[in-house]
Amino acid sequence: MTDAVEARPGTGAVRHSRVLVIGAGFAGLGMAVGLARAGAGEFVVLEKSDEVGGTWRENTYPGCECDVPSVLYSYSFAPHRRRGGGRASQPEILDYLRRVSDEYGVRAKIEFGAEVGDGRWDEAARRWHVRTVDGREYVAQFLVVGTGALHQPALPRIPGAGTFGGPAFHSAQWDHSVDLTGKTVAVIGTGASAVQLVPELAARAGALQLYQRTPPWVLPRRTSRLAVDRVPVTGRIARALTYWNAELLAAGLNGPPALTRPLEGRARRHLRRQVQDPELRRALTPGYRIGCKRILRSDDYYPALSLPGTQVVTDPIAEIRPDAVVTADGTVRPVDVIVYATGFRVAGPLARLPLAGRGGVTLQERWQRDGIATHLGITVAGLPNAFLLTGPNTGLGHSSLVFMIESQVRHVLAAMALVDREGAGAVDVRADAQAGFHADLHERLASAVWSAGGCASWYVAADGTNHSLWPGFSWRYRLRTRRVRRRDHELF
Ligand code: NAP
Repeated sequence: MTDAVEARPGTGAVRHSRVLVIGAGFAGLGMAVGLARAGAGEFVVLEKSDEVGGTWRENTYPGCECDVPSVLYSYSFAPHRRRGGGRASQPEILDYLRRVSDEYGVRAKIEFGAEVGDGRWDEAARRWHVRTVDGREYVAQFLVVGTGALHQPALPRIPGAGTFGGPAFHSAQWDHSVDLTGKTVAVIGTGASAVQLVPELAARAGALQLYQRTPPWVLPRRTSRLAVDRVPVTGRIARALTYWNAELLAAGLNGPPALTRPLEGRARRHLRRQVQDPELRRALTPGYRIGCKRILRSDDYYPALSLPGTQVVTDPIAEIRPDAVVTADGTVRPVDVIVYATGFRVAGPLARLPLAGRGGVTLQERWQRDGIATHLGITVAGLPNAFLLTGPNTGLGHSSLVFMIESQVRHVLAAMALVDREGAGAVDVRADAQAGFHADLHERLASAVWSAGGCASWYVAADGTNHSLWPGFSWRYRLRTRRVRRRDHELF
């Protein structure tokens, strides 16, 4: 099917395509390139903002980079091998994604400024009808949702936070107009974002107060003993070496505690080497198993905390006043700026996008009724021809999410091919296949470090269920998603 008319707000025109992709981040772009390369038919990408990049467009905090080596944190068809190897900064990754969208000819397929409001499966026509919030309408046989998991900032409810008189912003909504030079800055949170921005702020600000609730495990940056960055090998080999090195960690995260003890020893030695003050060291020593929260990698985080201008505050925050942060012990610390490095609302994007499947029942209603359940994190029974990218339980604590995205893109293409091969119009995963996958997944998750490691993290919901991570090796996911099993699906 080719384009009918361009959909424009208020014109009432409906744009038709074979595939509609929502989002132009790593996932949506990967899907778009996959569709283009496979010649899988006409497609349109709807992107709410004015540029590609998703999380790498939104997160612009100082020091922002990806802690996965770029040769692995890139598409297999376009390995991003930086000069000097290692990890790419946010501007480099954004530039990489811009280049991919241009070089693979998918930019022209993207409608920017198109924020999707809702979607509805038309049973009779076997088509998805999608509307943007400004009223543009789209009709497509297949719908791919690549809206990402981590982009709605979570701001803690701290009494008085609204009364703060100075600049206050979240790490993912960095206010670059605020000059931090010489200012007293409070950073709340010590996760993956904080560990990257704290060294930058410590160097720039007059004084830094780091409010820590739970200390993270921090490893030195260079963890690859294979030293792929120094070996003159091709991008493909460097990628493979980096991949298999990362997979070793998966064994530990899903195995007994003894397997990750050597890693804890490594992190402890790193802390001992970098922090001399015993009291600060104690405050920075985690009391849970490594890997339970995301393992952080930094060589300059601990040194930044030992600077004379930096103070690590472990007393809980009780209140924020117009010019100060007050902790539970009653200490009032005046500050000029507050940075919330407090993470994201994980269920955000999918929970907010009403997608009505068979019988008019939305994805959200299904999940409220039955719990968050999918098949392979990609399809949901009752939502024919709809596919999630980076859906529930497809995140990784040990390797590159791009590997998972590419597994999903292949699966979506295989599902479309199955529909064509069978001369059908739609495919829906069977409820029993979904239930079987779900039961097996959660059985494996129960003993993994994220649930058994003695910590709380965004990986695990308040009810104790891990809806975020894939347990075990990522290659298992690749194998599991490689084919679309006919017997697990209904075609019609
Ligand atoms: P996060 O890991 O969820 O960390 C949030 C931090 O804020 C935690 O230290 C948390 O403490 C703290 N916090 C939350 N509410 C608080 C409160 N009321 N008072 C005090 N502290 C509070 O968020 P993030 O650092 O933005 O990272 C989120 C995810 O983004 C990562 O896990 C990762 O998947 C991704 N990310 C990746 C990279 C990369 O290089 N690949 C970089 C940045 C982010 P508790 O630990 O006590 O809850």
